[in-house]
Amino acid sequence: MTTSDTLEAKPFGGHKPAPATLDFLATRHGLLIDGVWTESAKGERIETVDPATGLVIASVAAGDASDIDRAVAAARRAFEGAWGRTTGAERSRLLTKLAQLIARDADLFFELEILDNGMPAALSRMIVDGAVDLIDYYAGAARRIEGTTTASPEHLVAFGGEALTYTTREAVGVVGQIIPWNVPLSMACLKLAPALAAGCAVVLKPAEETPLSTLHLGKLIQEAGFPNGVVNVVNGRGETAGAALVAHPDVDKIAFTGSTEVGRLIVREAATTMKKVSLELGGKSPVVVFPDADLDLAGPGVAMATFFLQGQNCMAGTRIFVHEKIHDALVERIKAFAGAMKVGHGLDPTNQFGPLISAGHRARVLQRIEEAKASGAELVLGGAPLDRPGFFVPPTIFTRTRPDMKVWREEIFGPVMSIQTFGDEDLDALARRVNDSPFGLSGSVWTRDLSTAHRMAARIRSGHVSINCHGAVASNIPFGGYKESGWGREFGREGLDLYLETKAVTARL
Ligand code: NAP
Ligand code: MG
Repeated sequence: MTTSDTLEAKPFGGHKPAPATLDFLATRHGLLIDGVWTESAKGERIETVDPATGLVIASVAAGDASDIDRAVAAARRAFEGAWGRTTGAERSRLLTKLAQLIARDADLFFELEILDNGMPAALSRMIVDGAVDLIDYYAGAARRIEGTTTASPEHLVAFGGEALTYTTREAVGVVGQIIPWNVPLSMACLKLAPALAAGCAVVLKPAEETPLSTLHLGKLIQEAGFPNGVVNVVNGRGETAGAALVAHPDVDKIAFTGSTEVGRLIVREAATTMKKVSLELGGKSPVVVFPDADLDLAGPGVAMATFFLQGQNCMAGTRIFVHEKIHDALVERIKAFAGAMKVGHGLDPTNQFGPLISAGHRARVLQRIEEAKASGAELVLGGAPLDRPGFFVPPTIFTRTRPDMKVWREEIFGPVMSIQTFGDEDLDALARRVNDSPFGLSGSVWTRDLSTAHRMAARIRSGHVSINCHGAVASNIPFGGYKESGWGREFGREGLDLYLETKAVTARL
């Protein structure tokens, strides 16, 4: 591991953001409610921090229950007004315009994501390009919202009667959306694009740690010409603004991405008002490396399955099953790759590995590392915080772990890999070990044997499996969890279905 920055905390790690970025950071940011940027009712604010330096970079208004009330009322008016009567083609044109505006401001989004979240430059570029593609994808989907025709009830058509039965797809209504801090712009677009394509009106609560890119997105939504109240952005804390949105009686659906723990709270609360709920939750995804795998591919590939975005990634592959014959060779390659990653501020494009999101999260991750050491797991890389400003924890690898160890079972959401070996057990026996987890979000299989690859993919109980790569996501590929990893699928056609109701109409003619 190499590192380029100095020991004292310099603003922006000593790098120079563009003037437009500095202007944005210096702005007094409000909440977007009914098309107007306002202070929160109580005047509270949240300071946002660059996690690579620990320094405050901006301040945003923090809303609570009364701001959520105003935002939900605005969304309801929009939904029951002209927005609720728009055609798919009209919504498609607005989304296309929005995609063009995001592309126009790509450089600003690129720097905001790095400064707010700490991600490396190459990843931020990917996130911004992906956001444009996602909005564009759902702009297309908005034109293809279609029902079906089906047979009418026999009792109506008996004795020569005629009848017609068809279905239509209608927007679910007012949707509350709550997102985490790990890929802020992707999360906001992944929530907003299908909801807007479907014709819903939205109240979005970004994560308190990473509000910035969503605020600029809110500005572009206004500029694109979406009517007032269709998208409301209420920053604030989860326990206040988030909880108020979930409890609100006039919200028809909650779409949530975050921890399984908060997902459980949301499900309990939603039962009171019987809101629809979709959930993208945690993971502890398996990576299975067979003895015939291409190790030159698997070494870096398995390393990145865990260490991509410093492991703060729901689909991270953090439970590694490697055949005992290739254990040492694979661990050497993973170590070589991960150990050479250049650590530092994302504004230096040569850096590949950034900080964790906050001091609190770093403390949690370090505690899990200490527990793993104490439980007897063998540390082969990393394992101690880096002596530098910002919230850095280096790539950390444990091998010879056991299935009962916390490091093996629980999601850490940090750069911590756990390894176990397998022998010549059959695929069903191996799959039982692989599936021995409460989660089922992602996973990958590494082998040159086509048959082994697909047979293992079929046996993994999760919503998303990659072969000889990990976490292969795209706008059109459905993604979501089995078991405690969630309800529903985002991206693709199924992502749109989350925001549509089906209505069946039968006419006796
Ligand atoms: P989190 O604590 O669950 O927070 C997620 C969001 O929920 C934040 O906006 C948070 O607000 C809000 N929130 C917190 N408590 C709430 C409550 N009582 N009622 C309503 N909203 C509440 O998760 P996190 O630590 O930010 O993110 C990490 C987790 O997200 C990991 O478990 C990860 O696996 C999961 N994740 C899943 C996916 C996926 O697609 N499956 C993607 C990314 C992340 P604050 O910001 O104020 O806390
Ligand atoms: Mg931040």
